[in-house]
This record gives sequence, structure tokens and C-alpha cells, in this order.
Amino acid sequence: MDNIVNPITFVFDAWLGLVADPGKQFIFAALLLLLAAHMGWRSSWTQRAVDAVESVTATLAIFLINVLAAPAVWLLSEQLKALYALLGIPSVPGSVWAGLPVWLLSFIAILAQDFANYWNHRAMHLKWLWPVHAIHHSDPVVNGLTTYRIHALETLVMWGSYTIMLTWLGFPADAIGIGALFLTLHNVYVHINVDWGHGPLRMLIASPRFHRWHHADVPEAHGKNLANVFPFFDWMFGTYRVPGPCDVPVGATGIPRNDVVKLTLWPLLEWARMTMPWVEAIRARTVGWPARGTGLAKTMPLDIKAD
Ligand SMILES: [Zn+2]
Ligand SMILES: [Zn+2]
Repeated sequence: MDNIVNPITFVFDAWLGLVADPGKQFIFAALLLLLAAHMGWRSSWTQRAVDAVESVTATLAIFLINVLAAPAVWLLSEQLKALYALLGIPSVPGSVWAGLPVWLLSFIAILAQDFANYWNHRAMHLKWLWPVHAIHHSDPVVNGLTTYRIHALETLVMWGSYTIMLTWLGFPADAIGIGALFLTLHNVYVHINVDWGHGPLRMLIASPRFHRWHHADVPEAHGKNLANVFPFFDWMFGTYRVPGPCDVPVGATGIPRNDVVKLTLWPLLEWARMTMPWVEAIRARTVGWPARGTGLAKTMPLDIKAD
């Protein structure tokens, strides 16, 4: 009961339990090794090999950072249903779904998540959330591993919305699990480097071609093809765009390419940079003078006469 009343302590304890478990410490060891390898590659090899190894090690390291953060969401999700009852938050009783086959419930889970995910993803492409999502678009070579190149904060939002929504709807655990497994595997599938477009089924299920266009680094492709699984959400909300095979460069400019530490800190660095003009404006207003050395923009003549 303690951990329900105090979720922050609970998550912290769960995370400490993970960190202190000798069986799990290999994750940390692997992460440190990857980071060391990642920083040490650059001296030899051809540029192409360096690029490839850098991209793969960066993605694996980011994946491991996600693995370390993910237990918080999953451990919390187990407590959510109890939390709704404890706090008196009305939620859908599990009995509503009784009698429905698990494949149908899993399908509804995937549909609901993709709808939520469409709007999560759309928000992630707005100015203030882009620094979080930019990590996913920083990969200069999109392939299956790109799936895992996601900032831990984004993982928290995506899987947090999934688990909160479905536990609130009273979904049985097996449907939630099957849905999550399908979403994960399909997400790897749409990132692989092939030009499969799904022909007449292209609006029903996202293809590698559909998602590659989402990663295209040309202005007309920015903010398009946001659904993970069902392209008809993009069609409904006006963001569908697949003009043919994706033959333009992928990636994104203006973000660190394969620097794991910088990519992880990127949202904080960018938010600090973006709020600086506000901080400066508040400072100028409260103190009343511009910063020393900036001077006045224009010297006022002293002989203006009032009439
Ligand atoms: Zn995106
Ligand atoms: Zn992607």
C-alpha cells in the first residue's frame, strides 16, 4: 500500500532494486562499454565504417538508457488500477470486456494506442517538444535499430500514455501485453531499409516506405506520416504524404548526430537556449536596466522641447 500512496518513492525503490541487482548490472557494464567504444572508434577505419559503427553504437547505447528508464513505467502500470480505486478516480470496470476474444481486445488496444500516439507524435514535432523527439530523427541511416533511438522522456510519454489509457479502460493484462509486443515488432518493421509500400493495403497498415518518408530530410516531408501503425489517421487529419519511393536523404539537420551524451542532454540544452530571451527580458524588467555593456540602442537628443 505504501508504494501506491507514494509512487515517487516506489519508482525510486524499484529503480534502486534494479540497479543493485548483480544479475542486472551487466546492463550498466554494457552501457559503459558501448559509450567507451563509441568514443574510441574515431581514430582509425574508413569514414564509412566509422559512420556505421558510430550510428549502431549510439543507437544501442540510447536503447540501453531506455531499458534503464522503462521499468518505472511498467512497474507503475501494475499499480495503476489499484491507484484509481484508492483515489476514487472513476475507471472502466474490467467486466465490460468480459467475453470478448483476446485478439479483438488486442486489436482495440493497438488502435487506441495508435490514435493517442498520432497526437503524441504530432505534438513531438512542435517547437518545444522537438528537442526530445529529435533524437529519433538524428539517425543519418534509418534501419531496424533506429526504432530504439528514442529519448527516455519520449519512451516515458509513449508507454505512459499506453499503460495509463488501457489500465483506465480496464483492459485485461494479456491484451495489453500482446498489443505492446505487436507495436514493438511493427515499429522495427517500418524502420528497415526496404522500399515496400503495401500496394492496396497502404492506408490500412504502415509500410517501411510510409515511415521512411517521415524520416525524409526535406521541408515538404516534415511533420507528415505521424501514425505508427494506421496511416488512415494521417489521411483523416491531413498529414498523409507518400509520393513514391523515398529517394531523398533521411535524418535531420541541426542536431548532434551520434553523440549519446549530447543527444541525451539535448532537450535540456535546447530548452535552456530557448528560454534565455525570456529570462533576459524578465531580468531587464525587474532590474530596470539592460545588461552592462549593451548600452542604449539610441542616444536621445537633449534639446527636445515639449510643446
Ligand atoms: Zn517523428
Ligand atoms: Zn521512425
